[in-house]
Amino acid sequence: MTKLRDIYARDGLTFSIEFFPPKSEQGMESLFREVQELKKLDPAFVSVTYGAGGSTEGTTLKVVKRLRFAEKLEVMCHLTIVNQPVNQVKGVLGDLWGCEIENIIALAGDPPEGATAPWKAHPDGYQNSRELIDVARRGQSGWYDFFSIAIAGFPEVHPRAESRESDLKYTKEKVDAGADVIITQLFFDNDDFYRYSDDLKEMGVTVPIVPGVLPIRSAAQVRRFAKMCGARIPERLESLLSEVEDDDEAAVQLGIDYATEQCEGLLDYGVPGLHFYSLNKARSVAAIHENLNLGALTKAPA
Ligand SMILES: Cc1cc2nc3c(=O)[nH]c(=O)nc-3n(C[C@H](O)[C@H](O)[C@H](O)COP(=O)(O)OP(=O)(O)OC[C@H]3O[C@@H](n4cnc5c(N)ncnc54)[C@H](O)[C@@H]3O)c2cc1C
Repeated sequence: MTKLRDIYARDGLTFSIEFFPPKSEQGMESLFREVQELKKLDPAFVSVTYGAGGSTEGTTLKVVKRLRFAEKLEVMCHLTIVNQPVNQVKGVLGDLWGCEIENIIALAGDPPEGATAPWKAHPDGYQNSRELIDVARRGQSGWYDFFSIAIAGFPEVHPRAESRESDLKYTKEKVDAGADVIITQLFFDNDDFYRYSDDLKEMGVTVPIVPGVLPIRSAAQVRRFAKMCGARIPERLESLLSEVEDDDEAAVQLGIDYATEQCEGLLDYGVPGLHFYSLNKARSVAAIHENLNLGALTKAPA
C-alpha cells in the first residue's frame, strides 16, 4: 500500500476516482461491475465516501476492504465525525490501521440535509475535522505517523464558513496540522478553483491542491447536488442543462463534454491530479479519460 503523499510525489498526473457505498446487494454487485471497467484506466487510487450523518460506517469499510484486498487497488477511506462519539471514530481508525489501510480523507461530514444545514458536534465527539487530523496523526502510539491524510477544500467557500478569509486560514491550519493533500468540492466554474488554489499557494500551502470533478448525469440530480453542497451553476451551464431537462442520455453526454472542457483548463493550469466523482458509474469517467488521453499523462505504477 502506498501513502497518498508518495502517490502525489511521483512524476505525472494523479488520476483518482470516488465511489459511494451502495445501499443494497444489487447496488454492490453493480458497483463492482463498474469497478472492473474503471480498473482498466489504472487509477492511482480510488476512494469510498461515508454516508451523510456518519451513517454508512459498516458498508464504507466493507467496500474499502474489497477494493483493496480483492481488487488490489490503492484506496483512500473517507472518514467523518458527524453524529459519532470519539470512541466510534477511533474504532474505525483502529480497524483501518489493523488492516494496513493508511490513506484517509478526514472530514467533519455533512448532516443528512447537506453542507448548508446547521452542523452539531456529537456530545461525546470531535468538534471539527482538525481534531480528527490530530488524532489520526498522533492519537495512538500504534498508528503514530501511519496515516496519510487528505482534507476537503472549498473553491467557492464552505457554506458554514464565517468568511472566505477564515475558510482559507482554517484550511491552511489543517495542512499545518498534517494534511498531505487537499481535494476540492465539485465546482463548475474553473475560475473559482484557480483563485482558491492561487490564494492557498500565496499563503504558503505547498501540498497538492486537487480539483474534484463531477461529470453531470442528469439535470435534476446536478441541481440537487449543487444545492446540498452550496455550489454555483454558472449561467452557461444552466442554459445547457435546460436543453437536457427530460433527457438523461443527453445529460450524460453534456456531462462528459462539460467535464472534458473543465479538465482541459485545469490541466493547462497545471493541477497535480484530477479526482472524479464517479457516482458509481464507469461510462462518463472512461469517456473523459479517453477524450483527454489521460493514460499518457498519468503516473507510472510504483
Ligand atoms: C473531497 C470531499 C469528500 C467528501 N466526502 C464526504 C463524505 O464521505 N461524507 C460526508 O458526509 N461528507 C463528505 N464531504 C463533505 C464535507 O464533509 C462537508 O462539506 C462538511 O460540511 C465539511 O467538512 P470539512 O471536513 O471541511 O469540515 P471542517 O473542517 O470541520 O470545516 C467546515 C467549515 O467550518 C469552518 N470551521 C470549522 N471549524 C473551524 C475552526 N476551528 N476555525 C475556523 N473555521 C472553522 C470552516 O470554514 C470550514 O470550512 C466531502 C467533501 C469533499 C470536498
